[in-house]
Amino acid sequence: MTGIYRAMAYGILFLCGLISGGFVNVCADRLPKRESLRKKASCGSCREELRRKDQIPLVSYLLLKGRCRSCGARISVRYPLTELVNGVLYITVFMANGFNLMSGLYCLMTSAFLVISIVDEQTLEIPLPCNLFLGTVGILACILDFTNLLEHLLGAAVIFLLLYALYFFSKGAAIGGGDVKLMAAAGLILGWKKILIAFLLACIIGSVCHLIRMKVSKAGSVLAMGPYLCIGAWICALWGDEFLHWYLSFLIV
Ligand SMILES: [Zn+2]
Repeated sequence: MTGIYRAMAYGILFLCGLISGGFVNVCADRLPKRESLRKKASCGSCREELRRKDQIPLVSYLLLKGRCRSCGARISVRYPLTELVNGVLYITVFMANGFNLMSGLYCLMTSAFLVISIVDEQTLEIPLPCNLFLGTVGILACILDFTNLLEHLLGAAVIFLLLYALYFFSKGAAIGGGDVKLMAAAGLILGWKKILIAFLLACIIGSVCHLIRMKVSKAGSVLAMGPYLCIGAWICALWGDEFLHWYLSFLIV
């Protein structure tokens, strides 16, 4: 792809990321409350229905200077930030994995990971619809990468057995049931080698970040694992092979 077409493709991807980032916000707000995703958007303070022009990702927030048009209540910066992050991550996925169908699936996975991270951080629960969605993406990944089907199926099975044992013997203290399902679905997408590195990476990132947060903001000892599992799985989906080669080079030398 030549430079100008590539730039246009990334521009379109970014726009898709912004728009679906808006949907990520809707899911993150409504799934924990079991509200319909099709209900019209309204202001959290005055309940006034939002107009179409106030629902343009990123742009509306900037034009309204972060306040509701009717009541002037502050709109959380989380909304434009999620849209922006989703857009940037879509571009990153295609840059790292190339222009192919699997990158499209990785983008769906990315948005599901964002919803899970936001909800788990706020409620310590992972909504079942998110895990079911990830499982569906996993089935599509199996169809797309049919020659490596066993690798994908083992991915789901190995990580499920490992984490379920952890869940069972710690009586849910070490890891939550939602985390187990999340990793099983992610294992189906990533395959067994990448999901195992993803879990190790998540444990490392999770413990470092949580130690810092406990020191800085006096956060409690309860740790939402979901966001870290998502970060580990996302990084390994894109750069898992590089990690594997790097790790194996230590064993061989
Ligand atoms: Zn309002």
